[in-house]
Amino acid sequence: MDDARGGAPQRRLQGQEAGPGSARPFRSWSRAMAGTGRESGAAEDADFADLSDSEFPDFSELRDIEELGNQSGSSLGSPRNQADSQGPGKRKREADVPTPMERFQLRYLWVTDLSTQSWCEQQMVYRKELPGFQSVEKAAVLDAGASIHRARELELHDLVSIHTSTKEDTWAVKLLNILSMVPTLQAGGTIREFPVFGEIEGVFLVGVIDELHYTSKGELELAELKTRKRPMMPLEAQKEKDRFQVSLYKCIFDAMVQGKVTSASLVHHMKLSPELLLGRQVQSHARQGGFRVKSFGDLLELTFLSLTLSDLPVIDSLKIEYSHQETNTMLGTEMVVCEEKKVRDKLRHYLEYWTGLREPQGVDVKEAWKCRMCDYAAICEWRQGGGPRTLSQGRRAKVTQ
Ligand code: SF4
Repeated sequence: MDDARGGAPQRRLQGQEAGPGSARPFRSWSRAMAGTGRESGAAEDADFADLSDSEFPDFSELRDIEELGNQSGSSLGSPRNQADSQGPGKRKREADVPTPMERFQLRYLWVTDLSTQSWCEQQMVYRKELPGFQSVEKAAVLDAGASIHRARELELHDLVSIHTSTKEDTWAVKLLNILSMVPTLQAGGTIREFPVFGEIEGVFLVGVIDELHYTSKGELELAELKTRKRPMMPLEAQKEKDRFQVSLYKCIFDAMVQGKVTSASLVHHMKLSPELLLGRQVQSHARQGGFRVKSFGDLLELTFLSLTLSDLPVIDSLKIEYSHQETNTMLGTEMVVCEEKKVRDKLRHYLEYWTGLREPQGVDVKEAWKCRMCDYAAICEWRQGGGPRTLSQGRRAKVTQ
């Protein structure tokens, strides 16, 4: 083991589904986010990240938008002003109309789904309905970001692939990683790619924290790396999205170590079977890690005990670092103050869409500049001022995939 790795875990396990076509080295952001939405929670729980969602695309850097950011509205069409009297009000949910969670067959939401939503909710919906629209340029930026994150992770530990054949196995791999990282954190070490999950405001959220370490004052700090194609700091709108993302990570992590996330909630939302025996390879790697477990339930119990009895602190500070992809130069650092009430208010607003209480919203007229760099500008009904989309339109779009 490299000395530079200090007390970090020497390896991190990554699930690899058994069977044809399963040999993917790691979760690609573009694959996950460009999917139909099924990756975010249907039976394909296998895709619950092997890699942090830190490589979330930095939309604002794809074009020179310093100037665009200062142009309100201009000639971009007619993004609906949210103060418009015809704006999207809440509606009473009709029992026979599927919610977006149901329509996209989601059991949970990614933190990145929500931070994308904070950039433009309508765009996030289009991305799920019509994934083929993503530009090659954006995909390249995402892949470069993913590679940088992977290289950073390898500075701390090796990656070991394990064949998984059930969703319980896939979750077991995540739980084994948590079990191996908790002692490192207890001992004051640094960990990367820490899986987080939990029910917040009635919806199950999952994500992966890029890095957790202690500051010189002994405070637990979350560090999120954002890589950028252009050597400049992002605009305020992009920073706001990033702040929301790390604040959500803090809410989920804190709830996990405070015992507010329960194994029953995980089993319920993911429809997992605790009594199922773990796969041979998973059991073998658990033994190598010093854990004697046979069933998924055994591992579940061990993990939740470890999380709550290890006396891990809550996250004290949130830091976002922006670096230039090509030169690896640090562009700047943002310290984020997490205002939990504001974060939860915002989250509740976004979840109203997911639970079918309102239609998706596009950008406010003040942020019309975002439409200029949007892959869906040509078809966007919000931008064209055509009024809120109906669920039947949404269904049509899905059917045409
Ligand atoms: S065109 Fe504008 S309002 Fe429509 S999805 Fe894109 S960014 Fe959102």
